[in-house]
Order: sequence, then C-alpha cells, then structure tokens
Amino acid sequence: MNLKMIARTSIAFMASLQFTAFAADAPKEEVEPPIVQPGKATQPPSDAIVLFDGHDLSHWSGAQGGDAKWTVNDGVATVNGTGSIRTREEFADVQLHVEWATPAEVKGDGQGRGNSGIYLQGRYEIQVLDSYNNKTYFNGQAGSFYGNFAPLVNASRKPGEWQAYDIIFHPPTVGADGKAGEPGSFTVLHNGVLVQDHIPVKGATTAAELQGAAAAGPLILQDHGNPVRYRNIWIRRLGRSR
Ligand code: MG
Repeated sequence: MNLKMIARTSIAFMASLQFTAFAADAPKEEVEPPIVQPGKATQPPSDAIVLFDGHDLSHWSGAQGGDAKWTVNDGVATVNGTGSIRTREEFADVQLHVEWATPAEVKGDGQGRGNSGIYLQGRYEIQVLDSYNNKTYFNGQAGSFYGNFAPLVNASRKPGEWQAYDIIFHPPTVGADGKAGEPGSFTVLHNGVLVQDHIPVKGATTAAELQGAAAAGPLILQDHGNPVRYRNIWIRRLGRSR
C-alpha cells in the first residue's frame, strides 16, 4: 500500500466513523436534507403480493377490526377519516412499493399538511407528508423513519402529484424476553432516490396500534385526518419469511 492509498483508506475510514456518529445522533440532527428532483415509478413484479390494484380493499381491514372503509374511486384509495387500515396478512422481511399523493389543494402546515404514514409491522412508521415547501422537524418529514431518522435528501414532488416509496425492511429480531434483539434495517427510496440507507430499526420506535418487537405484523396505512390518496401497493416477502 503506497502513501496515497493509505491516505485514501484512512479518509474512507474516517468518513465511515463520521457516518456512524451522524446516524447515532440522527434524531437530534440539524442539517436540512437537500432537495433532489425524482424520476418515474414502477409496476408490480411477477412474484409480488398485490395489496391494492385500484379495485377494492379486500386485502385490508380497519386497524381496529371490521372492513377497511377508505373511499375507493378511479383506481385510488383515499383516507376519509374512518381510521387507519391494516393488511389482513402479516409480514416480516419485505420489499414494499407504495404510491401516494398528498392533496393538490394545500391546507395546513408542518405535520398538518398531507400527513399519513406507512407502518411496517404496524410499528415502524415511514412518514407520508407533503414536504414540498413545507417545513417540519427533519425526522418527521416525508421519507423519514418517523421520530428517528431524517431522509438523506428531500425527493418530494409537488402536492397532488403521485409519489412512490420503495422500502426494504428487515425487522428487529425478537429476544426470549419479547424485546428487540438484533436491530434489523430500513432502506427507503423516495421517487427512486435513496433516502434511508440501511438504517437500524432498533431503538425508539413509533408505536401505532401495536407495541413491542414481533416476528411478523401487518402493514398499516395511517389515517391522520388528511385526504391522502394511495394506489399501486405491492409487497414481496424476503428471506426467512418467504
Ligand atoms: Mg404520519
């Protein structure tokens, strides 16, 4: 290894240390994610479970039981104040694709504008929010692992425009005491742009209707009182849960 290579290696090592410190401090970070212009979305692959193809919510129930009551029209499911909805099936390790749009008519600000959310295992929320020219705390904006990690960049489209999340999720393992063991991971692309890069799931998690670590759990879409729209939702089971 020549001097140049040693220098390069130590710079890379120091950068990785810096990233570790940055990740550990993520909930308190004060650096605003830069804005990136996103590309286009995708169709389901052949081995996906299609959770919503635009016709009905038969794969879903109300988060508290009963049928899912969100409005389905023109291939789109819209949050309508009837409460969050959950998949009838439960999942562990998954690749998930969800398309969503916040209201074209901008109302409210911060967390009150186009708020919804996608809870993996009903527990860990990837935030859905209108984050186009809408300031809020960074680990609560679109693409955040809510309350934990801000997105690396802000890849938000304008209000009313369709956006996509592609999420690769590995849940924390469950110890004998029922608590989280190994941390698991989230990787999230927002409109095709990497916003969460293999971040740990372990730690302060956002409790929705469910609490604690689990081997499997439902996907929950949040009703936060804003008429957010959803379409083209599909999921692939990964690894040990296939
Ligand atoms: Mg939310």
